[in-house]
Amino acid sequence: MQPIYLDNNATTRTDPRVVEAMLPYFTEQFGNASSMHAFGADVGAAVGAARHSLQALLGAEFDHEVVFTSGGTESDNTAILAGLRVMPDRNEVVTSTVEHPAVLSLCDWLERNEGVVVHRIPVDSQGRLDIDAYRAALSDRVAVVSLMWANNETGTIFPVEGLADLAKEVGALFHTDAVQAVGKVAINLKDTAIDMLSLSGHKLHGPKGIGALYVRRGTRFRSLVRGGHQERGRRAGTENVPGIVGLGRAAELAAAYMADETTRVRDLRDRLEQGLLQRIGNCFVTGDPLDRLPNTANVAFEYIEGEAILLLLNKAGIAASSGSACTSGSLEPSHVLRAMDVPFTAAHGAIRFSLSRETTAPEIDRVLEEMPPIIARLRELSPFWTDGTPTADAFNPAYA
Ligand SMILES: *Cc1c(COP(=O)(O)O)cnc(C)c1O
Repeated sequence: MQPIYLDNNATTRTDPRVVEAMLPYFTEQFGNASSMHAFGADVGAAVGAARHSLQALLGAEFDHEVVFTSGGTESDNTAILAGLRVMPDRNEVVTSTVEHPAVLSLCDWLERNEGVVVHRIPVDSQGRLDIDAYRAALSDRVAVVSLMWANNETGTIFPVEGLADLAKEVGALFHTDAVQAVGKVAINLKDTAIDMLSLSGHKLHGPKGIGALYVRRGTRFRSLVRGGHQERGRRAGTENVPGIVGLGRAAELAAAYMADETTRVRDLRDRLEQGLLQRIGNCFVTGDPLDRLPNTANVAFEYIEGEAILLLLNKAGIAASSGSACTSGSLEPSHVLRAMDVPFTAAHGAIRFSLSRETTAPEIDRVLEEMPPIIARLRELSPFWTDGTPTADAFNPAYA
């Protein structure tokens, strides 16, 4: 039985065509892109071509607006720290309660150690940003706003173009973590007020350890990494040429895929969600039903533990993820679902299925076969479930 991989928001398989494009840059094309000889020139041209592919995918106006980094985390950190440094007379950051740890833990650190004032804008029960609270937090004290384009756990999409316009009204820089959006939704940066955007190679069938930060031309900027003059002084260090070439190829493939295949993936995702809801009681889909990534299904199964579901799914050869950010068996449910006020009895049992362009219909059908007996078995063992219904204990606030 072939294993089924439905954890593509955690990482994707590097496309074989990406690997193929990278290979020569480990062997004959080993030059340093900055060198003044033929070895360097060819490699420099390949880096330029990759930058151009990203410019096209992002709808950016100039290819030099793309700065290569080591990934999404570095891009997010660079954007927020640069924003604070170029505006020394402003000391506030606006973000949301549901961002990736690459943003939230940096903001926590800045608040504790640097005296930065951080506004964490809440979301509603469907994961949508509270726009009134966002407006209220904006002022001429805000240096940078960082709000994600699409949420990695629920797939909920924030209306970042409009949010960027509001940030501009108070003269703040606007950064978006678009790691989950790039390659899944159409992006046309030149028509927006977005100043900076983060993306990551391994979330779009590219290699790990490579990403990019888009920095709009004219945006004031401070490099996080100092050294040589690479990336026009915006990110020092000899370029990760194989990674950059791989990311460029991944961007080309993503552009072609979005044109042809987004609907197919969305249909598979909807079939998975509808099938689960039909076959299994006491479960619901989390996130914004209207504005959501086409590949993400986050389903909360009440009165059982997500980790237990994952273990049994894994035994059946199916890889998914728990909505919980738990790494060490802690029973804390995901900060995203908690921010959405998903009840504890359901947040503990949330499972994220994230599809990709490689997902097939027979794979979805097998998941739909395997899930009902897994859920039934776990509910039989659940102290909150007797004879097919939740017991009174399940509503005991002591559990929450
Ligand atoms: C994966 C992810 C990141 C981190 O990207 P890396 O390249 O793994 O550092 C940041 N933000 C979001 C939304 C992500 O999904």
